[in-house]
Amino acid sequence: MGLDVTSGTISVGPLQVLKDERALTNKAAVTTPRQPTPKPGQPAGGGATGDVEETTRDTVVVQFSILYDGNQEKFDRLWAMRDCMHRVLNTAISEWHRADKVASARNPEKETLARGPVTDAVKALLEREREYWAKQVPKAETEVAKLRVDLGRAKSKERLEEALTLSTRLEFAQKRCASLRIKATNQMPSSVYDSVVRWTASRYAIYKKDAFRGDRSNDTYRAGQPIRWRDGSWALVREVDAKGRYNLTLELHSDGKHVERAGFTVIPDGPSMHGFAKRMVAGGDTVKLCDARVVYSERKKQWFAKLTIRLVRKASRPLAGTTAALRRGVWSALVLVFEDGSIRTITGGDVVAFKRKLKARKVALGEHMGQMEAGDGARGRGKRRRFAALRKIDDAEDRFVDTRCKVWARMIARECADRGVGRLLVAKMNPKEMGDDVPGVVQAMLRNWPFAKMLDRIKQSCAKIYVDERGRATRDALAATVSVELAPFDAHWDARGCPNCGHVHDERQVAPTWECDKCHFTRGTDQIVAWNGLKRELKRHPGEPKPCTS
Ligand SMILES: [Zn+2]
Repeated sequence: MGLDVTSGTISVGPLQVLKDERALTNKAAVTTPRQPTPKPGQPAGGGATGDVEETTRDTVVVQFSILYDGNQEKFDRLWAMRDCMHRVLNTAISEWHRADKVASARNPEKETLARGPVTDAVKALLEREREYWAKQVPKAETEVAKLRVDLGRAKSKERLEEALTLSTRLEFAQKRCASLRIKATNQMPSSVYDSVVRWTASRYAIYKKDAFRGDRSNDTYRAGQPIRWRDGSWALVREVDAKGRYNLTLELHSDGKHVERAGFTVIPDGPSMHGFAKRMVAGGDTVKLCDARVVYSERKKQWFAKLTIRLVRKASRPLAGTTAALRRGVWSALVLVFEDGSIRTITGGDVVAFKRKLKARKVALGEHMGQMEAGDGARGRGKRRRFAALRKIDDAEDRFVDTRCKVWARMIARECADRGVGRLLVAKMNPKEMGDDVPGVVQAMLRNWPFAKMLDRIKQSCAKIYVDERGRATRDALAATVSVELAPFDAHWDARGCPNCGHVHDERQVAPTWECDKCHFTRGTDQIVAWNGLKRELKRHPGEPKPCTS
């Protein structure tokens, strides 16, 4: 027996040593070896991290519909906050206006505006609000009592119709009384009024930056402002029994010691929002919860939650593939020529129609202005008022052009992703290059068309295109992203040079079909510039088989 014990200890012995050894080696691994100093241009963190993929951060607002679950009290608390939110915001922002400069707590050499008085002003306002509503409560209570007596009397005398109306009125009065009581007692939690203070501070900073130019006024807020919660003061979890529903926990009331929270059942608005919600619930370090906003839509008669998150995602993977060329057309707005010789055009007919409409309106207005008939309201009030109508048209035009740029840029980017275009040649666009011999479409487009902006939009869209697993462009904002390289090219003479024999014509051709005088090579006039550019890049005609390089 004793021998057994000894043998036991002996057998344990070497194992123990082994364990210790392992512990030692483990320890040696934990102490980080000295990292080699990164060479300039290389990411810090050692050579092993060289294959770590680059990431980007996107801020996304995820929208949810809030469902009414019958618990009136918590919704009354939302109403209580919403109903005074614009006054709170206005107080805070005007308080920032007169805030004193103090040394920053973080960096004593810098000056910031004192936050304390702003917070105090907000708290004082909330206190006044509560006092005001507290005074309204007794009136409402008397009304409820009176209605109750009246109802009892009507019932005892069997006046049924009167009793019915009285009971509905009583119900309303009771609801009103309950909501007044909440308004009289509800104390905004610090996560809400603090976010008001912070948010107005950022708004005031924006105002301050532009104020010297004199064309920006300080913010003023009207009723119906969203309620904001500070970063991370809310939580979202999946609802247990109902699929596709989530539970949003918000801070609603605070008595100074305890914070009262309530959960709201919410449904993501739309398929991509469902995707974001899943990511939010899954957590991890790829998603960070920022502020929450809750807003009541008067039009839809419903509460919505807008939750801001910061998503870490892989940087766009550059597409490796074919080449395409883009150019403004002569008969259509934009033309894409692909490596396989196929053509895609964006006609831009709607631009012509819209511009024509605006032009007609402007001409009509101009006639009135010439005769000083700008209307009674505009007379004697200076240029600004007199030209208000014209300015309105210009603004509408700007907005239209801007959306058109965005839409077209997105169309081009998606087309490139779908066809596996890795490199997009873009002919530099010059508004001067087109004379009066050019048809209406381009005339309309060239007149005030922001070419630089259009190029910027295309650049933006091509930098991040969402694609599904098969590599097709998708609207799913959680999908992986790819990027298409943009390469501007100088299209000088390209409208007149023949891509086949190289003959340069004296005149620009504007007929729908372009034909070479020498070799009678024909192409669509719209395509000729892009065709030339792409041919120069590929060293062969688009659509021809690749020359054998081996
Ligand atoms: Zn030719």
